[in-house]
Amino acid sequence: MSLLPILEYPDAALRKTAAPVAVERFADPAFQRLLDDMFQTMYEAPGIGLASTQVDVFERFMVIDVTETRDQPLVFVNPTIRERSSDLRVHTEGCLSIPGVFADVTRADGILVEAFDRHGARFELGVDGLLATCVQHELDHLDGKLFIDYLSPLKRDRALKKLEKLRKSRE
Ligand SMILES: [Zn+2]
Repeated sequence: MSLLPILEYPDAALRKTAAPVAVERFADPAFQRLLDDMFQTMYEAPGIGLASTQVDVFERFMVIDVTETRDQPLVFVNPTIRERSSDLRVHTEGCLSIPGVFADVTRADGILVEAFDRHGARFELGVDGLLATCVQHELDHLDGKLFIDYLSPLKRDRALKKLEKLRKSRE
């Protein structure tokens, strides 16, 4: 396994929409290796989710593990959200592509997601809480959308200034 470079804002590739994963890909050892590399990259970062577009791949899939014990890896290939609860949940989100920036985002508290696992088996999963937030955040990445897009112009401005400052202090 190997660590993959994570694209950082404002890399234009983060704004690209990913295309559906083709059926043949499931049997491709390179695809399986890529998923393993994404998990390793996510755990190492550390993060709770990583979408393909963040590692410069434009196929619709993402890896997630929101557990503290880091032992429940989930793969979502070609995911779609079938239902969203009207109940909302506010979470202070961050993103491996926008390191050091955190802001409150409101999303559906519960969702029903349909996807394929890493071997091409279709599944439906009802999730809520942090996992629901994470699935929605990662799915947005596949459509070129970032969590800062939900912020008011003023808050986004403040977040991006912080990012700039953090980058300068890293140099
Ligand atoms: Zn993200």
